[in-house]
Amino acid sequence: MIELAGIEKRFGDNVVLKGIDVTIAEGSVTALVGPSGGGKSTLLRCINLLEVPERGRLVIGTESITFEPGRRPTSENVQKLRRQTGMVFQNFQLFPHQTAIQNVMEGLVTVLKWPKDKARLRAMELLEKVGMAEKAEAWPSTLSGGQQQRVAIARALAPSPRVLLCDEPTSALDPELSEEVVDVLSRLAQEGTTMVMATHDLRLASRVAGQVLFLDGGTIAESGAPSAIFGAPQKERTKRFIASLG
Ligand code: ADP
Ligand code: MG
Repeated sequence: MIELAGIEKRFGDNVVLKGIDVTIAEGSVTALVGPSGGGKSTLLRCINLLEVPERGRLVIGTESITFEPGRRPTSENVQKLRRQTGMVFQNFQLFPHQTAIQNVMEGLVTVLKWPKDKARLRAMELLEKVGMAEKAEAWPSTLSGGQQQRVAIARALAPSPRVLLCDEPTSALDPELSEEVVDVLSRLAQEGTTMVMATHDLRLASRVAGQVLFLDGGTIAESGAPSAIFGAPQKERTKRFIASLG
């Protein structure tokens, strides 16, 4: 349902993604692991087209786009693909001047032009799903990191994206706060939400992911089930990395 083929991305002379091929089934969870600078965030940003690759092909559901050097995709095509995705960031990035529910409604009202009462109902449903309904009227600054991230997840899911992209969703959180976010992501996974997440959190990856991709130096060095990648990595590089995470 999501396909990346031959995705290449460079920043100046730095080739950050060197021809990435990935297939992601509907309802599956894929974890991107690997050393800092390996290209995890860039890969996520290429899926939602915050970065435009130089080469390759991206398919999300019925929408697709082909990248070639020197040819910018049309903004219409970019918008269509981007709307298939929702993104959750390490630092939550809630709008500080909006309450929790306003954050979740924002895209529905301003981008999708939903009437406010309909957007409010949808937002409330999502806040319930992430266990944040009682905090609907709270300001982000009054919420814990874990609570803010749960609101951010609700916001990302509001327009019903085909895939939820998460970039280190628990990295800014203490273990206890991280746990409540892992619980929410795990529940979403059980409900069949398609997700791709970059994470250093092996517990998160083992609990929710069906496939793990070990990304190193812009290539997928190794891939497989979490038990295989974390329990019995094949390559020296992967072994060292997993060992370093303790
Ligand atoms: P990871 O998320 O695995 O730590 P990143 O995708 O953030 O890796 O980074 C991969 C490489 O791309 C790094 O060398 C980083 O310096 C470079 N990079 C990422 N974003 C940019 C950017 N906007 N401009 C220039 N270089 C970038
Ligand atoms: Mg990153």
